Amino acid sequence: MMIFSWQQSDWHRLARYRNKPHHGLLINGQSGIGKREFSFELCQYLLCNAVSGEDVSEEDNGPCGQCQNCRLFNAGTHPDFHVLTNELESAEGRLSLLTDYSNRYLDSAAREKKTKHSRVISVDQVRGLIERFSTHAHISTTKVALIFPADCMNINAANALLKLLEEPPPDSILVLVTANPSHLPATIRSRCMTQTLATPDKESALAWLAQHLPEQQIDIALTLANGGPLEARRLSDTGFLQHHQACLIGFAGVVAKQVNPVDFAGQLNKLEFEQLLAWFHRFVTELAKFCVTGIKPYWMESIRIDTQNVSVERLYGLYDRISYYRRIARGTVNEQLALEDLVLAFQRVVV
Ligand SMILES: [Zn+2]
Repeated sequence: MMIFSWQQSDWHRLARYRNKPHHGLLINGQSGIGKREFSFELCQYLLCNAVSGEDVSEEDNGPCGQCQNCRLFNAGTHPDFHVLTNELESAEGRLSLLTDYSNRYLDSAAREKKTKHSRVISVDQVRGLIERFSTHAHISTTKVALIFPADCMNINAANALLKLLEEPPPDSILVLVTANPSHLPATIRSRCMTQTLATPDKESALAWLAQHLPEQQIDIALTLANGGPLEARRLSDTGFLQHHQACLIGFAGVVAKQVNPVDFAGQLNKLEFEQLLAWFHRFVTELAKFCVTGIKPYWMESIRIDTQNVSVERLYGLYDRISYYRRIARGTVNEQLALEDLVLAFQRVVV
């Protein structure tokens, strides 16, 4: 099974779904807890025909891995399984099956030429899915589509998908996966059965990370990832973990007016945008908390920011501004301009 140790009870709960499938399933949960892997396993299980019709018991271990459906699924060639994702996910290849399946709906040759990959799931991709869903299942008894991250659908894509949810073709299941369900239109959410996957307890997360990161990185990585172990590993893989100290020094320099905000924004733009925004949110929250309560964040040990003239009100304003960019980050946003805007806003928190 591809699922993680902390997902056992989620699995037992969701595996029962196979007996009474709803045509729209919305899987959510914090980022970096293994939603991708879990959803793939679930989709394979929905297609597997080894135990169909029988009640799922506690002993159930998931897809059989042996039947024709399972073999085709794992080879990345199952004709009744469809994946819609964005260029960034597909290019990153965090799950090779995801790349294999999503390439049916993406122009991979065009993608290779780009330096910045799109985060949008387009209406053309959804239209392609609607077309394929209009025919009967080829091998399995069911057609399954996975849309990940579902909040990356632009408004046209979401509207097109809504039609599919309103009039689902027979024997079809749509599995939408997102860390930000509130970013999906309410009309889509209301037509899906929602299931939230658990965030692992700290012990399980640390145990898993111990197999993947150097010991000295584990604690800080998990803290920065808000407890999501896979996100913690990714923070290290993308280099963010190694660079976040430099970000802190830069921000301290901006407050002290020793660092040019536009130059600094240019340096930040080399980092992964969404990771940076998530960290920036955290940083601003900790700074506001320090100003109000005097509780020192961990980084105060090494970085000094003079908080005497910091306006907490403006910090809250900055927090909202970051939220705004995090919301639109899934669409098309000029990252350099966004970062300049945020760094300049950060400089203005000192009055
Ligand atoms: Zn099987």
